[in-house]
Amino acid sequence: MLKGKIALVTGGSRGIGRAIVLKLAALGARVAVLYRAEEAAAAAVCQAAGPEARAYRCDVALAADCKRTVAAVCADLGGIDILVNNAGIVRDGMLATMKEESFDAVLATNLKGAWNMTKFCAAVLIKKRSGRIINISSVTGLHGNAGQANYAAAKAGLVGLTQATAKELAGRGITCNAVAPGLIETDMTANLPQKDRILEFIPLKRLGRPEDVAEAVAFLAGPGADYITGEIIRVDGGLAI
Ligand code: NDP
Repeated sequence: MLKGKIALVTGGSRGIGRAIVLKLAALGARVAVLYRAEEAAAAAVCQAAGPEARAYRCDVALAADCKRTVAAVCADLGGIDILVNNAGIVRDGMLATMKEESFDAVLATNLKGAWNMTKFCAAVLIKKRSGRIINISSVTGLHGNAGQANYAAAKAGLVGLTQATAKELAGRGITCNAVAPGLIETDMTANLPQKDRILEFIPLKRLGRPEDVAEAVAFLAGPGADYITGEIIRVDGGLAI
C-alpha cells in the first residue's frame, strides 16, 4: 500500500512512534526513524523495520536540528512523502504550582516541534505537489485534563495547526490530519496512578495499544484517505464520547 513512499516519524524510538514505524514499514514505506536521546532503541526499531529504515538523531524542539534532519533524510532516502509528528513529552502538575519550564518544555516539543517539522517538510512536499502530514494529538487536547494544562494546551494547539495546515496546503495536493489517542500503554503512561479507575470510563474496557494508533496513522497515510483532510480521529476506546 505504501510501496515507494518515504515516511519520516518523529519520536520513532519507542511506544506509539515505534508502532507507527513498524506499521508503515510493513506496508512498504521506507522510514526515517527520528529520536532525541535513545540511539540504541532507535537502532533496534530500524532493525525490526527492515533494511531500508534509518535512524536520525533530531530534537524536534530545535529548528536547526529539524532543518538538518529533513535535508539529511531527503539526501539519503530521496525525498519525503509522509510526515508523522509523534514526538511528545509530559511534565504534569497542577496549574497553580506548575513551573514555567514545564510549560515551555511541553509546548516546545509537542507543539513547536510539530510546527518545525511541518515547516521544513512542507517545502519538500510542496515541490512534489503531494504528501501526507499526520499529527499525534490527544483526547486531552480536545477536552482538557486536570494536571495537564501545558499538555492540553499543546495538544489543542496541534488541532489548530492540523486544520490550518490542511487549509493552506490542500491546493498543493497535501493532506494534514490528526489522531487523538486516549490512554495508550507506553512508557509515558507506565506510572500513571489510577489506571483502573480510568478503565471504568472506557466503553471498550481496555487500555489502548500503540498498534491501535498505528492503524489509524496507516489509514491516513494510505490511498483510502485521499479525500480526507483537517480531520481529527480519536483512538480512545470511546473514552471521550
Ligand atoms: P513515549 O514517552 O513512549 O515516547 C516518546 C517519544 O518521543 C520517544 O521516541 C522520544 O525519544 C520522543 N521525543 C521526546 N521528546 C523529543 C524531542 N524533543 N525531540 C524528538 N523526539 C522526542 O510516548 P508515547 O509513545 O506514549 O507518545 C507518543 C505520542 O503520542 C506523544 O506525542 C504523546 O503525547 C501522544 N499521546 C500518547 C498517549 C498515551 O497514552 N501514551 C495518549 C495521547 C497522546 P527518545 O526515546 O529518544 O527519548
